Amino acid sequence: MKREFAVIGLGRFGGSICRELSADGMDVLAIDIQEDKVKEFKNIAAHAVIADTTDENVLKELGVRNIDHVIVAIGDDIQASILSTLMLKELGIKKITVKAQNDHHEKVLNKIGADHVVHPERDMGKRIAHSIISTNILDHLELSDDHSIVEVKVGVKMDGKTLLDLDIRAQYGCNVVAIKEADEKGINVSPMATQEIEQDDILIVIGADKDISRFEKELV
Ligand code: ATP
Ligand code: ATP
Ligand code: CA
Repeated sequence: MKREFAVIGLGRFGGSICRELSADGMDVLAIDIQEDKVKEFKNIAAHAVIADTTDENVLKELGVRNIDHVIVAIGDDIQASILSTLMLKELGIKKITVKAQNDHHEKVLNKIGADHVVHPERDMGKRIAHSIISTNILDHLELSDDHSIVEVKVGVKMDGKTLLDLDIRAQYGCNVVAIKEADEKGINVSPMATQEIEQDDILIVIGADKDISRFEKELV
């Protein structure tokens, strides 16, 4: 299904979103204030225009009002990012995703009604930090400021043990919500306490960050 998107700001982050959406066959309106950026996307996005999105009249002329989802990927110019978001909000855009440059910027964006605020440098940093702690930590997904889901590969410490042996919930306060068995294609989403886990199985674990940290240090 084709859906209409607009990406404002064609730097590395916005540019990457624009390329990916376009490659997936989505109809993307690519916008940047700089001519050279827009030129670069002429052959990539369905539409590419030079515009300053802090100007309400410009947004109206571009017909942005009819677009389902707008991504604001203006970075350094925080004022332009906030103003653009505010204008989009006033135009009644259904879904607005905005890249935040820092925590203060994020707070303001949430206050003015951005639907989804992303912080790619910080979040990618966190994910990489976890994968540096152990090569068996495959992924890390933040649920809130202090809760996450992690995907861990079973190493020697948990090999051949059951959830009951390891007593994970009681000892670490985390829950194993699913087990992807190494030798099977399936995923078990309601693991029994007596299920034996083996090396290279993948556990999906949910919990408070401090509990997950302890689990990672001691068992992963
Ligand atoms: P990157 O994703 O490369 O890290 P960045 O976070 O450093 O980007 P900038 O390069 O500051 O962000 O901004 C991204 C893009 O947004 C730039 O190409 C810039 O020209 C564009 N931009 C800045 N202000 C506006 C504006 N008012 N209207 C439209 N585009 C703008
Ligand atoms: P609890 O009193 O902790 O709820 P329980 O009465 O549900 O335990 P079992 O389901 O047999 O008893 O589990 C025994 C122990 O095995 C749990 O206390 C927990 O530490 C561990 N365990 C079982 N299932 C999981 C799971 N999905 N994730 C993490 N640990 C588990
Ligand atoms: Ca940057």
